[in-house]
Amino acid sequence: MKRLLLTTVAAFFATTAFAEYPDKPITIVVPFAAGGPTDKVARDMAEALRKPLGGTIIIENVGGAGGTLGATKVAKSAPDGYTLLLAHAGISTAPALYRNLQYKTLEDFEYLGMINEVPMTIVAKPTMPAKNYGELVKWLEANKGKINLANAGIGSASHLCGLMFQSSIKIDMQTVPYKGTGPAMTDLIGGQVDIMCDQTTNTTGQIESGKIKAYAVTSKQRLKTPILVNLPTLDEAGLKDFNVTIWHAMYAPKGTPKAVVDKINGALKQALKDADFIKREEALGAMIITDSRVNGPEHKKFVESEISKWGPLIKAAGQYAD
Ligand code: ASP
Repeated sequence: MKRLLLTTVAAFFATTAFAEYPDKPITIVVPFAAGGPTDKVARDMAEALRKPLGGTIIIENVGGAGGTLGATKVAKSAPDGYTLLLAHAGISTAPALYRNLQYKTLEDFEYLGMINEVPMTIVAKPTMPAKNYGELVKWLEANKGKINLANAGIGSASHLCGLMFQSSIKIDMQTVPYKGTGPAMTDLIGGQVDIMCDQTTNTTGQIESGKIKAYAVTSKQRLKTPILVNLPTLDEAGLKDFNVTIWHAMYAPKGTPKAVVDKINGALKQALKDADFIKREEALGAMIITDSRVNGPEHKKFVESEISKWGPLIKAAGQYAD
């Protein structure tokens, strides 16, 4: 009897003490709809993380309110490493934009590390008659009051880029919000909306297959991706110092054990060196992070600086959402 008890106790410890993270599926919450750029990065990242982490990784799309619903879900999830967030730069603009944000960006997450930086493109429906950026601006001027600009909700990258674009060219457009630029892209291809500013990771393939038209890139330099190389930067097209690049990064709920955070960060660093991941990202115009921001603490410092950069600008522009 004593012997049986000892064996049972030993078996119990063998399964708990040595049970390694992860021992059940990990969910990565994407705070935008499926098919868009954040979703694409997450699916590629999940693939690359499977090798170093092992186990199953599931993507859950929780779109809406410019990415804040998905972030809220993760901030309030169990801090056990099984619910993670893959978000974009909007996480640093949301504190200024949303008066009723349900989480504290700098307090409610463990920062896991940064993934990439992605420039954006000014794209339009396939029937847009303009042949180049100059003609696009003329078309926009001629159609003032009737232009539909798609975006992924307040605080999304497409919203902020669209705002900067409208104020730079001094033409107001009617914004049409979606839960992500995946569904917005479907409507742009169908001609239900006229124009959009979106990450190259979502637009490159559609430009290549002729489903949409492209007019400019939002980065300071022209891009090397073959199909995008001939697009002017908005800066060279006359909008001096226009420079919008969107980054993606990963987070876990605050209180996730350090050993788990370290393990995910180690796996993230390996994923960022994965040849297939790098190839897929670079083909779509994304730049993989190779500096110290792949570490949680450095990424957190970067987010703090982004919050201080965007906050006053957003407040001055009087942009709020509830
Ligand atoms: N690109 C989108 C944005 O405008 C989000 C997404 O669907 O990934 O923020």
